[in-house]
Amino acid sequence: MIDSRSHAYILLGPPGSGKSTQADLFGREFGVAHIDIGASLRAAAGERTMFGDVLSEIINTRRELVPDNIIRSILENELRKVDPSRPVVIDGAPRCEHQIHLVLSVIHDSGRELRKVILIEVSEGESIARISKRFSCESCGRKLILWTDFRSVGDKCPSCGGAVTQRVDDTEAGVRERYRVFLEETLPVIAHFETQGELIRVSGDRSAEEIFAEIISDLKRV
Ligand code: AMP
Repeated sequence: MIDSRSHAYILLGPPGSGKSTQADLFGREFGVAHIDIGASLRAAAGERTMFGDVLSEIINTRRELVPDNIIRSILENELRKVDPSRPVVIDGAPRCEHQIHLVLSVIHDSGRELRKVILIEVSEGESIARISKRFSCESCGRKLILWTDFRSVGDKCPSCGGAVTQRVDDTEAGVRERYRVFLEETLPVIAHFETQGELIRVSGDRSAEEIFAEIISDLKRV
């Protein structure tokens, strides 16, 4: 069982590695709060404001990383919403070397300590294959996998009948670019935490439950 003192975990991995699924499992099993930086950014990018338009241009058109000051305020804001005694799992930051200090200082200021950084590895081919099948329901938010949860593009949500759509940046070209950014920008972050002895590395080429079981067993060992 994970120690329930106020800890922070960081989840890293390329697109489609299953970070959100693992974060959800952490939440379900241990009550750990999921801080999903990408989801917060995409939600802000979807708003019809000047800030939303700028974010959408960066995320969806240029497919670049968002400036650090925005990451800081999103992270601070999301952490403020969680009771300080509750552990959190941060999904998607730090994404590049200059965010390491930023993220660690925000974690520290929130009264938590970094417990471990978990890296889920998947190949570029697997990343593209998974993401091209990844959809969600616009009404109930259920995550849906093509051919597993519904039969063909255009079908309605099997739970609520809502429209089933794909993320704007989940095209093949979008995933290739995000994977390239991951290799270029996030590998140095991984190397940093590995050197510090803070990294747990797991293969993402298995079922979500198997990956989760390995993460938990690795966390118990350290
Ligand atoms: P994700 O949902 O994690 O794939 O994130 C969606 C997009 O948000 C990414 O492609 C980036 O443009 C941006 N993003 C997410 N996390 C970060 C971060 N830590 N730093 C900068 N940009 C980010």
